[in-house]
Amino acid sequence: MSAQILDGREVAAAVKARVAEDVAEMAAAGVTIGLATLLVGDDPASHVYVSYKHKDAKAVGIVSIDVKLPGSATQEEVFAAVDDLNARDDVTGMIVQLPLPDGLDGEAAVERVLPSKDADGLHPYNLGKMVLGRPGPLPATPSGVMTILSHYGIETAGRTAVVVGRSFLVGKPMGLLLGAKGADATVIQAHSRTPNLAATCRQADILVTAVGRPGLFTSEFVKPGAVVIDVGTNRTDDGLVGDVAFDDVVDVASAITPVPGGVGPMTRASLLTNTVSLARAAMAGGRN
Ligand code: NAP
Repeated sequence: MSAQILDGREVAAAVKARVAEDVAEMAAAGVTIGLATLLVGDDPASHVYVSYKHKDAKAVGIVSIDVKLPGSATQEEVFAAVDDLNARDDVTGMIVQLPLPDGLDGEAAVERVLPSKDADGLHPYNLGKMVLGRPGPLPATPSGVMTILSHYGIETAGRTAVVVGRSFLVGKPMGLLLGAKGADATVIQAHSRTPNLAATCRQADILVTAVGRPGLFTSEFVKPGAVVIDVGTNRTDDGLVGDVAFDDVVDVASAITPVPGGVGPMTRASLLTNTVSLARAAMAGGRN
């Protein structure tokens, strides 16, 4: 039997509709929400991602502010641009588009962002709050995965989740969210040093792949009936593909996210949710 397709575009559209309502409500109360992006250099994929973020923001009524620096920018110039956005009242949230060009420290740039304006939820302060289970902006991709699971009524409590990948952007926070109180999955965090990866993955009721290797996860990695969430986004000659060999796995899994159209749109939607939450917290005068 073929797996249920978890349609990220459809879920993201529902999230965006709710965000647009929130933005309109806040506008009526006199609050303008401004999302800034800082893009350094000429990486074509980063330019595309940033343009999507502006398009999404505009579509829900968020003012978007586009700051670009040349690839020759120094770390100090990057910090100065972040400081400028931190100081602007019209910027209620911001994103430093990663990766930065070689020679620049992206993590240091993210750390320079005020935690109260950290729309990506990647500032160490906000990551720390996530570890403590306190409210704050969450990393957009793992947060988007939790939203899609919840939207389709996929139970996480009492189930075994295997997350492959341990980056601070995706894998690590994904494991933390699935294992957090309330989600209550039992989490196995796998990575490039995990012996016998296929056998480890076959333990999963919920398998999340965040590796960046096209088609690595064949049916051999999937327990029959598992839910498969493919975070991988790989540009190949055949176009954009995930980490999962979709055509092979779709007959084994009970539910699966496609690439494109699965986790990607959810990441973008989560960014908007974070942006509104930050503006709301600023309006309430609280720290995030
Ligand atoms: P990353 O920083 O390169 O991390 C990749 C992780 O995969 C690392 O933890 C690495 O293990 C592990 N890994 C690499 N090769 C492996 C293998 N053969 N077997 C098992 N584990 C392996 O990448 P990332 O930023 O987390 O992104 C992962 C993927 O998600 C990429 O394709 C990226 O484009 C995609 N992505 C998609 C979205 C979206 O919205 N859909 C958002 C962000 C990222 P070690 O730690 O041991 O090196």
